[in-house]
Amino acid sequence: MQKHKKNLGQHFLHDKNIINKIINSFEISKNDLFLEIGPGEGALTTSLVDKIQNIILVEKDKDLIPILANKFDSKKVQVINQDILKCDLSNIIKSNMRVIGNLPYNISTEIIFKLLPYSKNIKDLHFMLQKEVVDRIVAGPGTKIYGRLSIMTQAYFTVKKLFDISPNVFIPKPKVDSAYIRLVPKSYIFDSTFHENKFKSIVTLAFTARRKMIKTSLRGTISAQLLNNLSIDPSSRPETLSIKNYMDISKNV
Ligand code: SAM
Repeated sequence: MQKHKKNLGQHFLHDKNIINKIINSFEISKNDLFLEIGPGEGALTTSLVDKIQNIILVEKDKDLIPILANKFDSKKVQVINQDILKCDLSNIIKSNMRVIGNLPYNISTEIIFKLLPYSKNIKDLHFMLQKEVVDRIVAGPGTKIYGRLSIMTQAYFTVKKLFDISPNVFIPKPKVDSAYIRLVPKSYIFDSTFHENKFKSIVTLAFTARRKMIKTSLRGTISAQLLNNLSIDPSSRPETLSIKNYMDISKNV
């Protein structure tokens, strides 16, 4: 076993029970095509590989590549030594792809944001994340943790926290608690790509000043009058607005 690299968020799963619980949390059929992000030494891959015919692994750490290549049959398992944040996902994500990963926690939200535009080619995502990130993803309006991450992921996916995961199942133990989440793509909620891009920029703008009233954060973009017309209180804070409110704003600016 190589030394774990902290900068790559390497906390490897070593507990068979939790690995089985994860793999048994979804139905798998032989023809499913999987992408695993950050396979490490293949703890999850090993349990998955016998059930399927194809899996693509994207791992940044070049020292892990020979370990993965030796462990798995190259006819079934394609190992790509790349940074998931830098690689062109349009070459990797095929129709109806299932994505799984015990993600490097330091970049997990960036990975999720990178996957959003590919939601129509994804069957589902199953991720282990820092518990606090899972809680933010599933949060609803009116809570302190509801924000851009909740709105953007819930605009594209139905999200469900499945269970908490103890730090004891990882080597080395992370200092934070973990949780396991499922994200299943929704049908496309936007009117057009133009609307989708507006939505993204309005949500980003609204949450750059979380403590400010929505009429102040969006000043110059939408008037208080128009917010009123959309049944949105101009004095409300960005974290109290629903996804539908942001959809309405982005349709009208
Ligand atoms: N899946 C393994 C397991 O559960 O034992 C390892 C999970 S570990 C939390 C995260 C893995 O992601 C590590 O193997 C790390 O090298 C890899 N990783 C870190 N940053 C990455 C990136 N930008 N692109 C791809 N893989 C990355």
